[in-house]
Amino acid sequence: MATAHMQEDWTVQAALDWTVSYLEAKNDEHPRRSAEWLMSAATGLSRIQIYTFFDRLLSGDERSLLREGVRRRALGEPLQYVTGEVAFRHIVVHIERGVLIPRPETEVLVDVGLAAVDEAIEARGEARILDLCCGSGVIALSIANERPLATVVATDIDPKAVALTRRNAQALYLQDRVEVYECDLASALGDDSLGTFDLVISNPPYIPTAELSTLPQEVSGFEPRIALDGGVDGLEVFNRICSLAQGYLRSGGMLACELHENTLAQAASYCVKWYQQVEVVRDLTNRDRILRARHP
Ligand code: GLN
Repeated sequence: MATAHMQEDWTVQAALDWTVSYLEAKNDEHPRRSAEWLMSAATGLSRIQIYTFFDRLLSGDERSLLREGVRRRALGEPLQYVTGEVAFRHIVVHIERGVLIPRPETEVLVDVGLAAVDEAIEARGEARILDLCCGSGVIALSIANERPLATVVATDIDPKAVALTRRNAQALYLQDRVEVYECDLASALGDDSLGTFDLVISNPPYIPTAELSTLPQEVSGFEPRIALDGGVDGLEVFNRICSLAQGYLRSGGMLACELHENTLAQAASYCVKWYQQVEVVRDLTNRDRILRARHP
C-alpha cells in the first residue's frame, strides 16, 4: 500500500485528504464519510474536531492505526467492524466481526417495542422484556437505557454475540437490568419465567436462504450467516419465536419482530391463529418490516 505516503509530518488535513482519494480509488461508495470515521477512530477526535484540528500532526501510533483501518476498509470490510463501534438510537455500542451490524430499521422495531413497555409501566410500574437473538445487544440495551423501569432478559445462540452484549451492557452501566444467556431462543429460561414478560422482541435471522447469494459483498463477505439465514421462506426462526412467545408473555403482552419485507403477509397470517391485533409496521424506507401482535 501507499505506506511511503504516510509521512512523519502528516497533519490531520493531509492524512484525511490522502485517505479520501485512496478510498475513492478503491471504489468506496462514501470515501469522505469513511475517511472521517477512520480518522476519528485513529485519533480520538470527533468528526467535527477533525476539521478544527486540521494542522495537528499525527503521532506514530495514530498513523499506524489509520493505516490499518484504511487497509481493511479498502478490502471492502464494513466501516463499523473497522472502527469497532456503531451509534444506535441514544447509545453507542461496540461491534466486531462475527456479530451482525445494527441497522436503522431496528431502531423502528425498538419504537414499536417501547409502546408495549410503556403500557406495562403505566399498568404495573415496571416492565419485563425478553429479547431473542440479541446480537450486539442494541435492542435490549436501548430499551433498558431509555426506560429505567424496564428489566430485560436477552439471549443468543452465538457465544460471540452473548459476550458482546454483556460487554456493551457493562460499558453502558446497564448490566443490573440486562441479563444475558447463551442459548437457543428461550431454552435457558426456567419455567418460573413463563407468563412473566410484557414484551417479547426479536430481530431474528430472516433472509430467505436463496437470497443470501444476492446480498452485497460487504454483507455476505463479512457478516455472520447465522444472523442472516432465515431458512427457505425466511420465517423458520420467526415461526418458533411466534409459538414459544405465547408461553412467556403475560396476558395482553406484545410480540414484536423484525422480518424480511416480502414475508410479513405470510408471517401475519400464521400469527393470527394465536394472537390478536396483528399489525404490520413499515420501516423508514416505507417497506413492510415489523410484525406486532398481542397475546390474548
Ligand atoms: N436487515 C438485515 C439485512 O438486510 C438482515 C437482518 C436479519 O436477518 N435479521 O442484511
